[in-house]
Amino acid sequence: MSLLVTWLDALIALLALIFVPFVVPPLRRALVSRPLLAGFRKVMPRMSQTERDALEAGTVGWDGELFSGRPAWESLLAVPRTPLTAEEQHFLDHEVETLCAMVTDWETTNVHKDLPPEVWRYIKENGFLGMIIPKEYGGLGFSAYAHSQVITKLSTRSGTVAVTVLVPNSLGPGELLLNYGTDEQKRHYLPRLARGQDIPCFALTSPQAGSDAASIPDWGVVCWGQHEGKRVLGLRVTWDKRYITLGPVATLLGLAFHAYDPEHLVGDRDDLGITCALIPTSHPGVAIGRRHMPLNAVFQNGPNSGRDVFIPMDWVIGGAPMLGKGWRMLMECLAAGRGISLPSSNTGMAKLTVRATGAYARVRTQFKTPIGRFEGIEEALTRMGGNLYVMDAARALTATIVDRGEKPAVLSGIAKLHITGRNREVINDAMDIAGGKGICMGPSNFLGAAYMQMPVSITVEGANILTRSLIVFGQGAIRCHPYVLREMAATQERDRAKALRDFDAALFGHLRFVARNFLRTLFLGVTGSHFVRVPRGVAPQTRRYYQQLTRFSSSLALMADVAMGSLGGALKRKEKLSARLGDVLSQLYLCSATLWRFEQEGRQEADAPLMHWAIWDAMYKAQNAIEGVLANFPNPLLGTLMRRVVFPLGRPYVVPSDELGHDVARLLIEPSPTRDRLTAGMFIGDPDQPVGLLERALAAAIAAEPIERKLKDAVRFGGLDGRLAPGEGDAELAARAVARGVITESEAAALATQRELAARVVRVDDFAQDLGTSLFEPSAQELPSSTPTWAAKPASARRAVA
Ligand SMILES: Cc1cc2nc3c(=O)[nH]c(=O)nc-3n(C[C@H](O)[C@H](O)[C@H](O)COP(=O)(O)OP(=O)(O)OC[C@H]3O[C@@H](n4cnc5c(N)ncnc54)[C@H](O)[C@@H]3O)c2cc1C
Repeated sequence: MSLLVTWLDALIALLALIFVPFVVPPLRRALVSRPLLAGFRKVMPRMSQTERDALEAGTVGWDGELFSGRPAWESLLAVPRTPLTAEEQHFLDHEVETLCAMVTDWETTNVHKDLPPEVWRYIKENGFLGMIIPKEYGGLGFSAYAHSQVITKLSTRSGTVAVTVLVPNSLGPGELLLNYGTDEQKRHYLPRLARGQDIPCFALTSPQAGSDAASIPDWGVVCWGQHEGKRVLGLRVTWDKRYITLGPVATLLGLAFHAYDPEHLVGDRDDLGITCALIPTSHPGVAIGRRHMPLNAVFQNGPNSGRDVFIPMDWVIGGAPMLGKGWRMLMECLAAGRGISLPSSNTGMAKLTVRATGAYARVRTQFKTPIGRFEGIEEALTRMGGNLYVMDAARALTATIVDRGEKPAVLSGIAKLHITGRNREVINDAMDIAGGKGICMGPSNFLGAAYMQMPVSITVEGANILTRSLIVFGQGAIRCHPYVLREMAATQERDRAKALRDFDAALFGHLRFVARNFLRTLFLGVTGSHFVRVPRGVAPQTRRYYQQLTRFSSSLALMADVAMGSLGGALKRKEKLSARLGDVLSQLYLCSATLWRFEQEGRQEADAPLMHWAIWDAMYKAQNAIEGVLANFPNPLLGTLMRRVVFPLGRPYVVPSDELGHDVARLLIEPSPTRDRLTAGMFIGDPDQPVGLLERALAAAIAAEPIERKLKDAVRFGGLDGRLAPGEGDAELAARAVARGVITESEAAALATQRELAARVVRVDDFAQDLGTSLFEPSAQELPSSTPTWAAKPASARRAVA
């Protein structure tokens, strides 16, 4: 007995020795936190100012919830989509509609190689270039959501118009002035930009610095110089930029360069850092005007340069106090802007593609069947519909978040990356469905230009590979994590006592967070997340999704901590790991947007297949990303242990079912309120232009189907001789059917209309031999007026085949 007591005493003493330092704060700090902080200080690379600016730019919102392991779904669902004001709606229904009707991509590209002068005039006079500029400066003062709606609609018509309008409303002089300009700069430039008196561009990219834009070699040296006859303080700037959108026609050049002050004319630092200035392009020394040709798109884009160009200090955006603050300014503006421009333009392109291709798949028949009914095509249509549903959801949610005053750096990166990425999938699928019709260029091709220009969206505003590999998780894990940024800040803190206090609080909060996520992940894995609380009042068919997504969130939080804890700074170089963890976060955001959209749109039962497909697809992708992390974890033992916690009973998620896919595909090949909601806000236009024509042909195809069935039945059961003489076709057979009373005159007319419209849709343009001089006058090949399609082949042909 006494031996047992001695052993128990020893055990208690040992446990006390282990735990007391953790529960008694002064001891804990002295024995645990201090040595750990010293160790971290040694291994943590010192953060450069540009890295710090990028990390600190923007705000954390729903991304923080997704990283928390326990997202507060109610808070997301309570966010209403930004309503459009009457004025914004009027603008969409009138000015935007008119602008769309004024252009065709084919003419813009091949005839004018630019927007026609009257279109430029219309854009300027109607305030398209000043949508984000407040009314007090003469702009339209639109919400982010309204701005997004405008760009989306324009993109359903013409990429060139959309890019021309989106650039001045995106990261550039307007936004930089609004956020950082001096009052004088705002008063001078904003009304001119709003009225289109000035055309802006923004030049950051140099031949040597593309993705690594913080390393631009362009420089400016603070010095005295002459300006308008006076000796003033300013900068002598040298630059060489390329790829600058609107550059060749810009009158106002926003320029980013690295500023130096070797003579200490404005302070005591030599190296001031990246600086943004506004330079009228008429200023002596500015070389501008030549053009690039970005994948045959004719929006204005080109290089510009200058050597030793003197600019006065008040041309720096925000004046002398903002010297060297350019990178932070750009990162902050990008945090919001990236979530609007490309997500909107790509959603617009996808709306056009889905609506037109769905119609084409019903109108185009092969093997006597609309191609949209073949399972192979159906699979591609399913992906197109599901992708578009998610893309539009993420676009609308991100714009709404911006309207709530947030600058969502991580979520806008996800929106840009995934909406452009999914749009590429949509367009690739559409090209496969359209076959030669998508390949032969000409005014009747509704797809080829988008296919060609897709890589532009992938490359600009943060190229997608870089965004996926470095930004989404790299920035997300640090920004959104409740403790990591605080720990990092503590390691950089100069005041030692404060550093220890902050570090200790963050570290032990962090450990509790990890322990909770570990236990929750394991519990959710073992119980299949069935016991997770579901937010109140959600659509019954979505209840399980909230539980499953909470499980993903918990797994992500755990894996992120294990990755950061075991790899530290080396995680930055493990891009594949970082990309996959980012994929989990991204899919969670896309699912959040999908569920939010479904609720916002009043839980439309008819749209449910799109919502279900989108969620299953995203959950499967998230599961694959997790599997990629676990299978390739640098420490295999940790990878194996994490697998036991994350997937204790195996991997539960599967691809969306074929049955569900069938339901989605069907929604694309016939008119319905769901199809209208999926492509809402799209420009349809003239009934004789490609999209309008497809709409008519689709309606005609659907109207013709029961009539065709009557004819087929009559032929099959002997009520009608289906054999055709050489040269006869559907028209002759229809005439016989009318004579036999199988169909009525008006049904025969409906068939004839359907044949005529289908033939027009299927046509492609052809050109004269030299292509060059006569490119603009296509002569679409004419089909014989009566082409046998579904009817029995002529008897002579059948004999020949035999
Ligand atoms: C049509 C068009 C319009 C543009 N408009 C403007 C404009 O108005 N103003 C402006 O300043 N710029 C503009 N740009 C420039 C654009 O922002 C850059 O093209 C972009 O930043 C990528 O730079 P890059 O083309 O030099 O590619 P690179 O930087 O050479 O990148 C090549 C590839 O490497 C990848 N990569 C690079 N670093 C990493 C990394 N660390 N990890 C993983 N992958 C990486 C990239 O993702 C990309 O896939 C425009 C470009 C184009 C094509």
